[in-house]
Parts: sequence; C-alpha cells; structure tokens
Amino acid sequence: MTAVDAAVQSKLLGALNVSLVYRRGLERMNASKFEQDLASSKGVRIITNASPKAVHGNGAVREIEFEYTDDDLTPTGQTIRLAADQVFKAIGQTLEGDDLPDVDGHKIAVTDAGRTSMSGVWAGGDCATGGDDLTVTAVAEGRDAAEDIHAQLSGA
Ligand SMILES: Cc1cc2nc3c(=O)[nH]c(=O)nc-3n(C[C@H](O)[C@H](O)[C@H](O)COP(=O)(O)OP(=O)(O)OC[C@H]3O[C@@H](n4cnc5c(N)ncnc54)[C@H](O)[C@@H]3O)c2cc1C
Repeated sequence: MTAVDAAVQSKLLGALNVSLVYRRGLERMNASKFEQDLASSKGVRIITNASPKAVHGNGAVREIEFEYTDDDLTPTGQTIRLAADQVFKAIGQTLEGDDLPDVDGHKIAVTDAGRTSMSGVWAGGDCATGGDDLTVTAVAEGRDAAEDIHAQLSGA
C-alpha cells in the first residue's frame, strides 16, 4: 500500500515515468486490488517478480538494476535496468528480540485494552494485533490503553 501511495502521488505530482517493482507476483502483493487498479489507472507501470540488485549512478542515481525472480524469490540471473532519478523503498517491518511480549504472527498480542503478556506493558497501533493499521485505530487504542493504565494504577 505504501508503494502504491508513493507511486501514484509521484505520478500525480508530474513524474513522467513511474514504475512500481515488486519481488513476487501480483497475486502475492499486499496492496489491495483496488489500489493496484488505481496505480495502473494513473499510469504507474507495475513490474512483478523482480528484486532490486543495485543502484547505479555517480553521486546521484541514474539507473536501478533488478534481477528477475521465481515466485519463491529464487534469482533467475536475468536482469533489467530502469532509468531513474528517484528511488523510493517501501519495506515492511517485523519484531525481533528475546525480551518481547508474546507475538501473534508479526504483531504483539494484546487484549482489548492493549495489555500484553508482560506485566506493565501495553501496546497499540500498527505493532499490535487486532487493529486495521489506520491512524484513527492507533489513536483509539492509545486512549483505551491509557484508561486501562490509569485504572490499574489507581486500583479502580
Ligand atoms: C504510506 C502510508 C499511507 C497511509 N495512509 C493512511 C491513511 O490514509 N489513513 C489512515 O488512517 N492511516 C494511514 N496509514 C497508516 C497509519 O499511518 C498508521 O496506521 C499509523 O501511523 C499507526 O500509528 P502508530 O502510532 O501505531 O505507528 P507509527 O505512526 O508508525 O509510529 C511509531 C513510531 O515509533 C517510532 N519507533 C519505531 N521503533 C522505535 C524504537 N525502537 N525506539 C523509539 N521509537 C521507535 C517510529 O519512528 C514512529 O515514530 C498510512 C501508512 C502509510 C505507511
């Protein structure tokens, strides 16, 4: 979704050629079909099964090189270069570490009030389970957690 946002806005701001390059096939793309169609309708070229390999240029980017991949991301050895004067990376994040609360998938497992498996630790927003990765949800979860923290501290 971030890649689609950046690509569509680049196009609307006047970039002549915008390519959105994705490592896997379209069917694996996390961006919804609606967002994919939006990108195409705005003139964004979507290239699939290609992994970034190198950025070329002398002090500033001139080309970006990709290597085609199979669906399991195995490199095929076949590369392409796209002329580019700007490159945006849209990457995911995950949790790593030994002292984390319990996780569910890639997110911190929480109760409705945002309590985690660690005493005294609450979580909400994008890093926590249950939400829909929207600002309004993150704010609401922050409010709910604050009320629960207050209730716990005041013995209510
Ligand atoms: C391109 C894009 C478009 C979006 N469009 C919309 C939209 O139109 N409407 C909508 O409702 N939502 C939208 N979202 C989603 C929305 O931005 C998120 O759901 C929201 O920001 C989540 O808030 P958060 O507080 O959980 O996380 P974040 O806003 O990501 O805040 C987390 C903060 O923690 C900081 N941080 C991370 N690690 C550490 C660390 N180790 N130590 C200290 N600080 C750390 C980060 O720097 C960041 O400031 C969009 C997101 C993206 C990426």
